Amino acid sequence: MDRRDFLKAGSVAASVALVSDFTGLSEGIIPLYNKSESELPWYKKVTRWGQTNITEKDPAHYDIAWWRGFWRSTYTQGVIVNAGGIVAYYPSKVPLHRQAQYLEGRDLFGDLCRAAHEDGLAVFARMDSNRAHEEFYNAHPDWFSIDSEGKPYKAGDLFITCINGPYYNVHIPEILTEIISLYKPEGFTDNSWSGLGRDSICYCANCRKSFYSKTGLEIPVKADWDDQIYREWIRWNYARRIEIWDLYNSVTRKSGGPDCIWSGMNSGSISGQSESFRDYKEICKRADIIMLDSQARSDAGGFQQNSNTGKLIHGLLGWDKLIPESMAMYQAGRPTFRMAAKPVPEARMWMIEGIAGGIQPWWHFVGASHEDRRIYHTPGPVMQWYRDNEDYLINRRPVATVGVAWSQMNNDFYGRDEAGLMVELPWRGITEALIRARIPYIPVNADQIDREAAGLSLLILPDLGAMSNDQVESVRRFVKNGGALFATGESSLYDEWGEPRSDYALSDLLGTHTVAQTRPAPEGTLRKTAANTYHSYLRLSPELRKQVNGPMNGMEPEVTGKRNPVLKGFEETDILSFGGLLQPLKTDNRAEVLLTFIPPFPIYPPETAWMREPRTNIPGLILNQTAAGRVAFMPADIDRQYGRYNLPDHGDLLANIIRWAAKDNIPLVVEGAGLMDCNIYRKREMLILHLVNLTSAGTWRQPVDEYIKIGPVKVKARLPDGVKANSVRPLVSDQNISHSVENGWVIFTINSITDHEVVVVF
Ligand SMILES: [Zn+2]
Repeated sequence: MDRRDFLKAGSVAASVALVSDFTGLSEGIIPLYNKSESELPWYKKVTRWGQTNITEKDPAHYDIAWWRGFWRSTYTQGVIVNAGGIVAYYPSKVPLHRQAQYLEGRDLFGDLCRAAHEDGLAVFARMDSNRAHEEFYNAHPDWFSIDSEGKPYKAGDLFITCINGPYYNVHIPEILTEIISLYKPEGFTDNSWSGLGRDSICYCANCRKSFYSKTGLEIPVKADWDDQIYREWIRWNYARRIEIWDLYNSVTRKSGGPDCIWSGMNSGSISGQSESFRDYKEICKRADIIMLDSQARSDAGGFQQNSNTGKLIHGLLGWDKLIPESMAMYQAGRPTFRMAAKPVPEARMWMIEGIAGGIQPWWHFVGASHEDRRIYHTPGPVMQWYRDNEDYLINRRPVATVGVAWSQMNNDFYGRDEAGLMVELPWRGITEALIRARIPYIPVNADQIDREAAGLSLLILPDLGAMSNDQVESVRRFVKNGGALFATGESSLYDEWGEPRSDYALSDLLGTHTVAQTRPAPEGTLRKTAANTYHSYLRLSPELRKQVNGPMNGMEPEVTGKRNPVLKGFEETDILSFGGLLQPLKTDNRAEVLLTFIPPFPIYPPETAWMREPRTNIPGLILNQTAAGRVAFMPADIDRQYGRYNLPDHGDLLANIIRWAAKDNIPLVVEGAGLMDCNIYRKREMLILHLVNLTSAGTWRQPVDEYIKIGPVKVKARLPDGVKANSVRPLVSDQNISHSVENGWVIFTINSITDHEVVVVF
């Protein structure tokens, strides 16, 4: 089968393929976006985006003709163009809608919008409705956020607007309506639409009135997660942002038609969403497209953070919708230089990992002219590759048997102000152990466990401390129906407000119960100790050798037991490094304790570095095997430790537990040296594997400035019903891949992978 046949095979039954309008345009001409070509709305078809984030100086020298050429050469189908908000880039008649400093009467937004429409591009008019200048504040001080002493909240010279006032209810809707009547952009997005963040409380009259009318309460005097009024204030803030989302959509659709949507930008970080009161689940319920503002990796999260984000949001939004992501072509992140080009390998790898998670590319520059011209060369090749292979990259479904549960409520009410420590680190530990072990997984929202259950053999709760009763019941149903469970840390020990329960809500499944603390615990609860690292260990059970006291004189101590396969690979040790603290727990009779706690002892001076208490019966890992299924509970926060320190023993142990609990029901085996993020998708009669090579001298510390090839990589993937595996084709390299099919698995070897490879089995 040649490549043309292959492309045809890929289009079989493509009646609802989103991008069918854009195929067949491989001659290098920009694929024209034309509404009449398909029934599908633009926001389901436009997949390749670009943004020149306009500075106030740009109107003087914005070279639209040059940028039209750039759109064309980068195969861009839609642009995000600054329109209004803090400043207007068009001659606005809305009172106090201040013109950009150097606009001088030019209609820059209008010129760009018309040029884009002439070229067949969709336009997202970009707003920034979060702050305003002093003259606005002086005219309407009651439209702005104030602190408990009545002083306005400011960001630099600008004043922060209040989400409960007429600025949001009247002023912004007027601007949206004006822009629609003048220019008819396809839709609107907003850079920072959600107002004052969680770290500041607004006491303006509008806020007081709204909070009182909704709750009968006064605005809390300070942040206190133990105070129910503060918790109600958190929920009330979330609800208000959803009201704004709905209000703006009703305004834009009323003036611009049913497809004229408003879609405010959202973060790739759940903690970021929480701190801005943006409820991802509620937003995804109503969003037609998610405009993701997540421009670069963090050192801690790595590139793989981006595929994780794509899968997590698609889990809420559905896989038939699009998630373009603003990807910085400038040196964003650590450190930031707006005008300097990011090293190409670093910028590309972020784009590639996003694409691996179902995200669409959106190049992003700040400013309309650049003296570091290298920046213009970064997006084109990725955009072109995306265009050529788009059918394999969207509207597909992940294939995974492992689900990792998360919830924003847990981030708020268990994570509180330490969500990075309490929620993100365990999450990272689990997901990175999965990636390292090349086990495909999907993030599962804790309110959607029932929906995802059918495809999963294992559900992981990474220190999911705060759980509602409904969530607990859905986990129970999952296990009752034969699913396996792996819970860590304090999972299910708190209710939906973060109030501690008297025992784990899942205690019967976990085979474990809390007990009144019988040991002196000066450091207190996990919340108080998780930030610290202790010189503690875990003892593997049963010990395989008698304790060594003194020189062994060449004599091997006798083997005293046989271990559970969960401890495979650790035959030459009876202890593992830990780093955390554990409290006594009571375990049920049927439960098997595989790890026990060795309390901390001094590190320094070396003379003192001996175990004061080499053995306890405090459990660190508990396995339960019942007729229904397997349940592993790990009170020891090995996931948090792995997320923090990356010790291979911790990663191996987590992978062992996951494989044991899932009874090895994993649809992918990948062999060969290197760190890879392996994702599998199903689309029609195709299996699509996306292998991203994360192996690099800069994998954990940015930026990457050189790729290191890996290979050969041997792949074995289980074939779902309906996938024939007559052919195996790479979409990135042009190497020949021969394959075989054995017992329902397709087996092939990829000789080398530079940055990534996508392999289509059909
Ligand atoms: Zn207010």
